[in-house]
Amino acid sequence: MGAAAPGITVVDHPVLAHRVTALRDTRTDRDTFRQLVGEITHFLVYEALRDLGTGEVVIDTPVADGVVACRVTENVLVVPVLRAGLGMVQAVQEVVPLTEVAHVGLRRDESTLRSEVYLNRLPRDLDGRRVLVCDPMVATGGSLVQVCDLVRARGAKEMIALCIIASEPGIAVFRAAHPSVRMLCAAVDPTLNDVGYIVPGLGDAGDRLFGPLD
Ligand code: URA
Repeated sequence: MGAAAPGITVVDHPVLAHRVTALRDTRTDRDTFRQLVGEITHFLVYEALRDLGTGEVVIDTPVADGVVACRVTENVLVVPVLRAGLGMVQAVQEVVPLTEVAHVGLRRDESTLRSEVYLNRLPRDLDGRRVLVCDPMVATGGSLVQVCDLVRARGAKEMIALCIIASEPGIAVFRAAHPSVRMLCAAVDPTLNDVGYIVPGLGDAGDRLFGPLD
């Protein structure tokens, strides 16, 4: 496990790196890309929620009665940042037993590279809740900061940002705005190009997951 900056965990493992390479590759088709995003998300969320809240439960197994065992009791709110964050939701739900999902949609103005919120399904009161923000590509960091601002304003106890690739400039922006929010990612890339894409990156994650509409 590496740390690109305080609070940033780069989940560093050959099987993850192998999948990130396939994601980046232009020859990877859409179905494979979607599957890889899910597999990478499995590893990231497993690592992110090591301290997930649990309780005791008494069960009978086929060979012993009254066994005290552990089960997850914490209900995590998953916040996918549309569009690309949708590609991570099912994988989080496959790993984490109790979740709810609240979608947030941001649209990027290609001339200013700034994003505006067009959908906010966050519950009014997030007091005491842990929130997992799913945003696969942290480029300028602006949209992730905006979403975490919205979540914080509703009183969340703790936020974790789950990302696949984060840029170094994006990490710096995010760290400055939300120093206490943990971020986990599978790779950190050095730079952005002049239209705000991460380099080397993987292109437009939303397009590669879902396809362009026109
Ligand atoms: N969003 C993407 O999908 N890719 C980038 O490189 C930057 C933002």
